[in-house]
Amino acid sequence: MSLRFFNTLTREIEEFRPIEPNRVRMYTCGPTVYDYAHIGNFRAYIFEDLLQRHLELRGYQVERVMNLTDVDDKTIRGARAQGVPLAEFTEPFKQAFFEDLDSLRIRRADHFPEATAPKYIARMIEMIAVLIERECAYRADDGSVYFRIKSFPRYGALAHFNLDELQATGRVRSDEYEKEEASDFALWKAWDPEDGDVWWESPWGRGRPGWHIECSAMATAILGSQIDVHCGGEDNIFPHHEAEIAQTECVTKMPFVRLWMHCKHLLVDGRKMSKSENNFFTLRDLKAKGWSGREVRYVLAAVKYREPLNFTFESLEAARKALARYDEWFERVRAMAAKTAEPLPSELRPEKFTEALDDDLNVSAGLGAIFELIRDSNRLIDAGELSGGQARALLDWREKFDSVLVLSADEEGIPEEVREMLLRRAEAREKKEWALSDALRDQLLATGWQVKDTKEGQKLSRRG
Ligand SMILES: [Zn+2]
Repeated sequence: MSLRFFNTLTREIEEFRPIEPNRVRMYTCGPTVYDYAHIGNFRAYIFEDLLQRHLELRGYQVERVMNLTDVDDKTIRGARAQGVPLAEFTEPFKQAFFEDLDSLRIRRADHFPEATAPKYIARMIEMIAVLIERECAYRADDGSVYFRIKSFPRYGALAHFNLDELQATGRVRSDEYEKEEASDFALWKAWDPEDGDVWWESPWGRGRPGWHIECSAMATAILGSQIDVHCGGEDNIFPHHEAEIAQTECVTKMPFVRLWMHCKHLLVDGRKMSKSENNFFTLRDLKAKGWSGREVRYVLAAVKYREPLNFTFESLEAARKALARYDEWFERVRAMAAKTAEPLPSELRPEKFTEALDDDLNVSAGLGAIFELIRDSNRLIDAGELSGGQARALLDWREKFDSVLVLSADEEGIPEEVREMLLRRAEAREKKEWALSDALRDQLLATGWQVKDTKEGQKLSRRG
């Protein structure tokens, strides 16, 4: 059975056919490093991680790029507000982003190009020069260079709106804008005092690139003129990805991307996340409340990427319980597994997991299949009807699930953050800091672990 995915451009489920049979060139829009990424951003990055891992499970060799936007309107605004150079402002957010990726078990991309790297700035300038030469772009009287959207009749195809219906008159300088303002957008922004010392020399004078050209330049520089899959959050469709297509195709004269995949927004308690609504969370916020990266990963992965995902604290509680079942089942099957696998009874259908993911990455159905398998195989074990060889076959399947989901507890089954708390508690007890010791015991309990003090020291068990 082949893999099938929904293509935002055609609005159809299509059979997956990369340019080269077994190789996948994948570009994923990364963070703008002006703040800590929030869990809505991470929903998209986890979706991309699941996609890559599933393609690999199906035998594809994936090369993935994720860019870091370290110069745009927002980063410049942030650096100015703090009164520090741009690079100094963005650096801690870059570091924090990588820590969060690790915590959420998101595989690092093969390339993390930074927009401000000289070779990519050079590539952007080169592309803009070609666009001007072909009259797809022009230098306006404000000194900036704009893309002429009328020169690209397919502009609007990705977001599915008709260029003729737009009142496309003026120009728009800011990186983000609404469909109603779909006007010529900035490729190169002439320096203005707001930019401070952020500028590069170009044939059109000092200035800086627009956000959209950054991705076109980095994608084609690393992966070539045509790529197989381009992903992002649905808010990237317009104007960002629409602009990427127009700029790139006017330069390369060939279709830029075969398959466009976009992940739906994340809601929190049924509402759009916003700082003013007090429902805005970074991974750090959730960890401070005692939730682990593994639990957050579970919640963000568990709903199919094209379905709305409503994040709640109940969903984290449910994740904790589901993970405990997943862990216990694994221990149980592992304890009885023989060396050689034997065919599974026909009522157990682990292949339903991979089939669900083949079908437009339906992780919700995939997890459903896993928990069905856990329930049915537990019942067989209870009845003494599962052989050691069959247990081995289940373990082999479990390895496949986990190569995509990455939900394993670590080696000894105790999460790293729990082990750390345990260590701190041992120290506290040594120093007779009983209040701290009790607080850590409560924190452990909130994380799903019960600690008892015995003559041999602390004994840890999963909360029942
Ligand atoms: Zn991008």
